[in-house]
Order: sequence, then C-alpha cells, then structure tokens
Amino acid sequence: MNRIAQRQFAVVERAEPAEIELSVVLPIYEEEESLPQLLSKLFDVLHNLHCPFEVIAVNDGSKDRSIDVLRKAAAVHPELRVVDFTRNYGQTAALMAGFDHARGEIVITLDADLQNDPEDIPILIGKLREGYDVVSGWRADRKDAAISRNFLSRVANRVISRVSGVHLRDYGCTLKAYRRDVASNLRLYGEMHRLIPIYASWMGAKVIEVPVRHHARQYGRSKYGLGRIMKVVLDLAVAKFLEHFLVKPIYLFGGFGLLSILAAFAAIGWAIGLKIVDGTSLILTPLPLLAAMLFLIGCISILMGLLAEMVMRTYFESQSRPPYHVRQRINLDVAA
Ligand code: UDP
Ligand code: MG
Repeated sequence: MNRIAQRQFAVVERAEPAEIELSVVLPIYEEEESLPQLLSKLFDVLHNLHCPFEVIAVNDGSKDRSIDVLRKAAAVHPELRVVDFTRNYGQTAALMAGFDHARGEIVITLDADLQNDPEDIPILIGKLREGYDVVSGWRADRKDAAISRNFLSRVANRVISRVSGVHLRDYGCTLKAYRRDVASNLRLYGEMHRLIPIYASWMGAKVIEVPVRHHARQYGRSKYGLGRIMKVVLDLAVAKFLEHFLVKPIYLFGGFGLLSILAAFAAIGWAIGLKIVDGTSLILTPLPLLAAMLFLIGCISILMGLLAEMVMRTYFESQSRPPYHVRQRINLDVAA
C-alpha cells in the first residue's frame, strides 16, 4: 500500500512540468515559408541558453499552411505550444494571446517572418537581468523600403516619443523582452502592441532600448500598408487620454464643457456690449446663436463626462481592479 502510494507520488512528481523561465511568443499570419527556418534557428538559440523555455506560436487565422507546419514542429518539439485563432484578429491580439498563455518569468516577442533575429534573444535577457522590466529592440539598421517604411516610421517614432514622453527610437520592433508581471498586467486592443513600452513605463516599469539586427523579408509579404499610421496615431491619442484621464474622465469632458459655457457667456456679453455701445441689434450678429451653441456643447460635454465617470467606475469596480499598481509588498500577505 505504502509502496503504491510512493510510486504514485513519484509518477505525479515526474509529471510536474519544470518551472518555465522563458516564454517566446510568435505572432503568425501566413508565414509558412519562413517558419521552418525560424523555428530551427530559434530552438538552437533557446537550447543553448540552458534554461527551461517554451515557445508559444499564435496562428492568427493564416489561410496558408502555417498551421500544418506548426503542428508538425510541435510533434518534434514538446516546448512548442500552439494557439490557433479561428480567424485573423491582428498582431496585437496574437501577442496578447501569447502573453495570456505564457508561463515564463521572462516573455520575449518576435516576428515570425525572419526579420527579427533569434540570436538577439540572449542580449535582451542580459538587459532584463540587469534590472530592467522591459527591453525593447531598436532596428538600428532597418532593412525595409526606404521611403514608405523607414522614413515614415522615423517620423512616427519622433512624434510618439514627443507625445508620450517615453523616449525610444523604435516603437515598432516586435523583438522585445518583458518581465512576466509587466506582460500579464497588459490588456491590449486594436493596434496598440507598439505602445506597450509606453503603457509599461507609465505603470512604473523600467524600460530600455537595445540595438538589434534586422533582415529584409525573404518570403511572403508585409501584412501592413499605410493605413497603420492612422491607427497608430489614434492609438496614441487613446493612450494619452487614458494616461491622464482614465480615473477622472470628468476632468477632460467637464473642463472642456466649462470652457465652452464660459465662451458662451463671453459671446452673449459681447453681443450685449455691442447693443449698448453701438445699438447693434442682437439679431444682426451671429453671437447669440454662437452663445446658444457653445452653451449646449458645454452642457453635453459635462453630461458626457458624468457618463464617462460611471463607465470608469463600472470598469474598475466590476473587476475589483484597484486604480494603482503595487511593485511589492513587505510584511503583507495580500494576494493580488
Ligand atoms: N502578423 C499577425 N497578424 C496580422 C499581421 C501580422 O500575426 O494580422 C504577424 C506576422 O506574421 C509577422 C508579424 O506579425 O510575424 C509582423 O508582421 P509583418 O512582417 O507583416 O510587419 P512588418 O515587419 O512589415 O512591420
Ligand atoms: Mg516583418
């Protein structure tokens, strides 16, 4: 009896997976030609690190044979775990699915098209071990189209850096490394994966940029056109709004509303002034109409602010989310 129990215990123990230290996340949309070469290079690099790792490949609704390639590779490499989306949800969603499934203390993301180089992974890990929370790759010698990609992205990077106050040279490089708690705290929408270091930095994470290699695309084609610039600009506007007003949206809407009402009073005051001084009839100037419009806009703005406050409270309170992030607790055993 005792021996059986012991044997069972031994079996259970052996079945326990080793603690994963490193999770590598690959977003994949129609990369069947690149995948075999990428996986072989990636596994070489990861095996040489001599730490327990996993690779999470997220197939983002590819219509080519990417999933077949992944299935075959997963049969050979038990460390390869595959998440297969029902349709194309976009790179941000693919990365987020990767973060959700990652178990490693360190999470690394890289493109699956061989443009990022797996050999840079040890450099990123080295930086994390120096105490940084996010290490972002900088494609110092970028191998994409000169005008339509490199030039525009340089302009975009400058703007993002200025607006966000988080100064990186290259936000768009997928090759990045995160400490797990940073990655798992992120909720990503739209195209905002490029802005992760910004959100992380706003949450108090230490962010650094390191130069990484970049290669021209060998197979397939880029999945993005110029439309992405507009999306990134709007994502940045959302980010900026959330940074300042997530917990107090009424300050933005209400502030604008009050200004508008003030302007309404100024307009009507001006109209009355004209009437008294010049005897100009109120009907002859557009000022009363302007005043009415500004007053209405002001009231609506304030009401929208109140609505936004209710939405925000529902968001935080329904999920019992505190509006702060704790780095560590000392002599406190609070979970979460
Ligand atoms: N990707 C994805 N879903 C998409 C578009 C792209 O998972 O809807 C993946 C793609 O397979 C690649 C990475 O995201 O691994 C970057 O895409 P791409 O190479 O097209 O972007 P670029 O390098 O041109 O900026
Ligand atoms: Mg690419």
